[in-house]
Amino acid sequence: MLHLASRTQRLRASATLAFQEKARALKASGVDIISLNMGEPDFDVPMNIKAQAIEAIHERKNKYTAVRGVPELLEAIVQEYKDAYALTYHPTQIVVTNGAKQAFFNALLCLVGSGDEVVLQAPFWPSYYDMVQLVGGTPVVIHSSIAEHFAMTAEALERHITPKTKCVVFNSPCNPTGQIISRKLYKEYAEVLRRHPHVCVITDDVYEMLNWEPHRVHWLQAAPDMMDRTVIVSGLSKGFAMAGWRLGYALGPVDLINKMVDYQSQTTSNVCSISQYAGIEALTGERYSLAEMLVAYKSRHDLMYAMLSSNELINVIKSQGTFYMLPDMTQVIEHMGFSNADELSLYCLEKAEVSIMSGTSFGAPNHMRFSFANKCDKLEEGLSRFLLMISKGI
Ligand code: PLP
Repeated sequence: MLHLASRTQRLRASATLAFQEKARALKASGVDIISLNMGEPDFDVPMNIKAQAIEAIHERKNKYTAVRGVPELLEAIVQEYKDAYALTYHPTQIVVTNGAKQAFFNALLCLVGSGDEVVLQAPFWPSYYDMVQLVGGTPVVIHSSIAEHFAMTAEALERHITPKTKCVVFNSPCNPTGQIISRKLYKEYAEVLRRHPHVCVITDDVYEMLNWEPHRVHWLQAAPDMMDRTVIVSGLSKGFAMAGWRLGYALGPVDLINKMVDYQSQTTSNVCSISQYAGIEALTGERYSLAEMLVAYKSRHDLMYAMLSSNELINVIKSQGTFYMLPDMTQVIEHMGFSNADELSLYCLEKAEVSIMSGTSFGAPNHMRFSFANKCDKLEEGLSRFLLMISKGI
């Protein structure tokens, strides 16, 4: 009989992955499921990046690399932050990780101790909540509604800061809301944080390249004086459609990043060498595929918004980035006689054969997260089935 460590009681499988697994199983059994729950780009990795990976294999770049990452990749990341945001980083302030997820977790592990509080704005990416608990911290959730365009107010932030607060998490563009944080709001948050010097910021920018309007501003462009207490988490999973290549990174103060490197050296070591060499090409090579992807995401977004907003029971706002939309389904849930979005989502999967995530695990009960990382004809078919299901009722 195995006795598991007590920390496993705080461990749950990722809700998004679990739901996707269920939809995948139904699909595998022959059911024609249309997926509106994709958490990753449906585009192929750009050719120039693939070519570089193949070259790295032929050049026998098979050895362990520095845990922190290969120097050319660190330099490419330095250059990226200079070009995109006029932010100056040194390679010693960077660690390359297995996706943005590992960057986020390792940052938390090195920052948050038992009983420390981490402020999260809901709706949020579910893993934030679980990862905070896993490192022994306490998530403090600030809810925001669709009427507020899912924007946490600075006043709410101030109210939730205590002497135990260790950090606050920003995610712009946001999974699941698709909203960006405005320069004005960032400046208001910065004013609050200047009054609380014990609080640091983790900004998760993994969707930074997938944004159309209005143009996204980086947290540190709005509040440059916050650089010494900000950790940036990002990576290539979304903007370069490289989710499976597991290439992320964190940028921040040297002391913290060094500890993250130490931790990584004792756990996973360096990120796959081939992915790292491909990553150099992604960041320094031609980006023609990104422009094409953005045009496609925007037209899919417009199609989804038009279809969802045509139903008066659905309360939806336009997204400004990512490939997600998070309508409030309160009236649909009532109309169908369900008690929550989980029931609606499950019914939709089984009856309409469309997989759409319930908002519950995102801290947004009564909402559903629609993904438009799928072709327009599939989106149209899936949304038509969904709208027909509502009009028929149970
Ligand atoms: N942060 C957010 C908000 C995400 O939505 C995701 C993935 O869906 C991640 C981080 C993890 O990214 P990666 O696949 O690079 O680990």
